[in-house]
Amino acid sequence: MSAIPYRQYAHSEPVKKPVTKAQPLVTVIIPFLNEADVLTICHQRVCDALDQLHQHCEVLYIDDGSQDNSWTLVSQLKHPLHQIRCLRLSRNFGKEAAMSAGMKSASGRCVILLDADLQDPPEYIPAMVEAWQAGAQVVEMQRRERHGESWIKRTTAHCFYRFMSKISDHPITENVGDFRLMDQKVVNVINTLPERTRFMKGLLAWPGFTRKILTFDRDPRLAGDTKWNYPKLIHLALEGITSFSTKPLRWATMAGLTTSAIAFVMALVIFTKTIVWGDPVAGYPSTMLIILFLGGIQLLSIGVLGEYIGRLFIESKQRPLYVLMEDATTKPTFHTVDS
Ligand code: UDP
Ligand code: MG
Repeated sequence: MSAIPYRQYAHSEPVKKPVTKAQPLVTVIIPFLNEADVLTICHQRVCDALDQLHQHCEVLYIDDGSQDNSWTLVSQLKHPLHQIRCLRLSRNFGKEAAMSAGMKSASGRCVILLDADLQDPPEYIPAMVEAWQAGAQVVEMQRRERHGESWIKRTTAHCFYRFMSKISDHPITENVGDFRLMDQKVVNVINTLPERTRFMKGLLAWPGFTRKILTFDRDPRLAGDTKWNYPKLIHLALEGITSFSTKPLRWATMAGLTTSAIAFVMALVIFTKTIVWGDPVAGYPSTMLIILFLGGIQLLSIGVLGEYIGRLFIESKQRPLYVLMEDATTKPTFHTVDS
């Protein structure tokens, strides 16, 4: 285990990759936050799956600011055939930043993203690698069933991804999370995307390339609790919408145009009524209704504008996506196969 000096990794700065005799066939990236209860079994299952490939691979753990003993646990993991690499971020930057840190440091010929809580079963790795070797540059894992997740989470997630795939300028496959395999070429493209607002499902889909979809049943979490709550999910949804589509701005314009047209017609009607019949003072309820309706539309449109301006503000600061604090690598004890 070697501690590297504390330094910031600007997003565009190339990260030094470890030199090994042979380039690993696969790098499995596992971001985690306080997952001490599951890491040992996760490591065991991932290594068992990689063993079936009979090639030298890499497992890359990213500690996203854990407060429990996850780092101590993970930095002591070893394997005779595979390289185990552990990066520690200086605080919790979010799963998206942790995955980006992993993709910058991965040295495999293809990369697999996997959750530490074993909701994405590592046993699918050989099938994913097989699909990649057959020619697919991206292998997306589509969820058939989502065991252990509440009805409300499943429905809101389903509606959100439906909505996103409708409004996004690039297709995002429904029911596909971060669990996927990507060729090194695809990862290199994603590493060049400079945005700080990392809506990963959109970013991962953006490069395109040849795709294959495999289906799987998502298991319940092995232990511990989900790190997501509704405020975080709403934030993620707003980030996704504003970083991958400008359609809400178009809708605000359309709402403005429609209400202006309605107001114009109403003005004509009221004017004619007053001129022809003379009109007593119009009713209080209708006036209030119109004021509230217009006020609502205006505030909503300002809010939509604000969301986009907020993103511009964050992007313009050009802060690094994450700060790397420690790097622990255990080389395989012996190389048996050269890939
Ligand atoms: N995670 C992370 N940083 C965070 C939140 C989550 O690295 O800020 C990791 C977490 O430890 C797990 C994966 O991301 O390995 C998925 O998180 P979780 O299971 O909480 O999400 P869910 O499966 O409920 O969507
Ligand atoms: Mg999970």
